[in-house]
Amino acid sequence: MASQRYDVVIIGGAAIGSSVAYFLTHDLGFTGTIAVIERDPAYAHAATTLSAASIRQQFSTPENIRMSAFGITFFRELKARFGPEADIGFRERGYLLLASEAGEDVLAANNAVQKAEGADIELMDRAALADNFRWLKTSDLTLGAFGRSGEGWFDAPSLFALLRKAAQAKGVQNIHGTAVAIECQGGQATSVTLADGSRIDCGVLVNAAGPQAGDIAALVGVGLPVEPRKRCVFVVACRAKLPNMPLVVDATGVWVRPEGSGYICGVSPPEDVDKRTSDFEVDYSLFEEVVWPMLAHRIPAMEALKLQRAWAGHYDYNTLDQNAVIGPHPEVQNFLFANGFSGHGLQQAPAAGRAIAELIMHGQFVSLDLARFGYERVTAKRPVKELNVI
Ligand SMILES: Cc1cc2nc3c(=O)[nH]c(=O)nc-3n(C[C@H](O)[C@H](O)[C@H](O)COP(=O)(O)OP(=O)(O)OC[C@H]3O[C@@H](n4cnc5c(N)ncnc54)[C@H](O)[C@@H]3O)c2cc1C
Repeated sequence: MASQRYDVVIIGGAAIGSSVAYFLTHDLGFTGTIAVIERDPAYAHAATTLSAASIRQQFSTPENIRMSAFGITFFRELKARFGPEADIGFRERGYLLLASEAGEDVLAANNAVQKAEGADIELMDRAALADNFRWLKTSDLTLGAFGRSGEGWFDAPSLFALLRKAAQAKGVQNIHGTAVAIECQGGQATSVTLADGSRIDCGVLVNAAGPQAGDIAALVGVGLPVEPRKRCVFVVACRAKLPNMPLVVDATGVWVRPEGSGYICGVSPPEDVDKRTSDFEVDYSLFEEVVWPMLAHRIPAMEALKLQRAWAGHYDYNTLDQNAVIGPHPEVQNFLFANGFSGHGLQQAPAAGRAIAELIMHGQFVSLDLARFGYERVTAKRPVKELNVI
């Protein structure tokens, strides 16, 4: 079969892949050829489509705070970038992270990191929590951290569509196919073979395959500790009014936020059962046994909630440290990673796309130094552990 050649080939066309293509063609003014290879043009199982689409500054790693801060800047520039009709339904309603005595010190320490980064996060003692959020049971809480600005939620498909269409309008080619092999010569990735046997030659190759990023790295013969891990989202109705409700993250890890006229909620599964997965079956026992009891406890009005529907998606989970891997492989220098975001990749898609575009254009980070997220730490087994994984 005949082969085609592109200066940049991106495997995976959802939020991260589209963002790389967008920043290359817009902010960076790249004039070379770009192709995005995507196995499922409906994006039915992409993490991007199945995301809870929330954005926060409440991380423990400064680089994560900076990346999400750029996400907020990007949201605020949306109309200037994409035109007056652009709207991703951003609700700037904050996150509220709660702690009991056991978690108080960590919450306060993380808050100091966030404050040093300029994040607008207020610590609240029990009395302030009770005063500000009257629907919250506070008797077993000692501290909360509330994002007064720069945090909230938005519509994932709308953000993704803006990025993808804008990139397409600048000539980025979308190729429908599944990458099944990658050829390397002289320490460079030279071509991608698709399942139909066609070959795409590349100048630079970007891994934007989300939960499958580890499998794509394996095609190059390198290890990447990123795998699909199931996360379930439950949609519930509750008649009681819960005024000014932010995205609440309980000390147990159960989270809940408003969505439309109802709410969505979830929790990570216990570590001993949280393994690589390929199925999208909803684990209803998590709702019955963990989420609902906790919600009923923390927000008594939610005892009477009604489960309406649910979905399962896959986190692009970095088993080393739950942080992104961004940048080139040290031995295959034209193979770039933008992977392993572990539950915060949608909000960081603008910053990750810009970072990869800068690496392609300038050979280095320009706007934000993300060297700490480089691949080298994978080889060295030196985690940059993110403590606030939700
Ligand atoms: C339930 C859930 C809740 C989440 N909540 C949030 C949140 O609140 N905030 C947040 O910021 N993030 C959240 N995330 C994480 C976020 O959605 C992801 O980090 C982000 O969408 C990753 O984008 P991506 O483009 O890298 O991956 P994906 O969206 O998964 O896209 C990867 C693409 O690569 C394609 N692909 C894979 N293999 C191949 C191949 N061999 N050949 C061709 N194409 C291939 C796939 O078809 C897919 O379209 C959540 C994720 C889930 C599942």
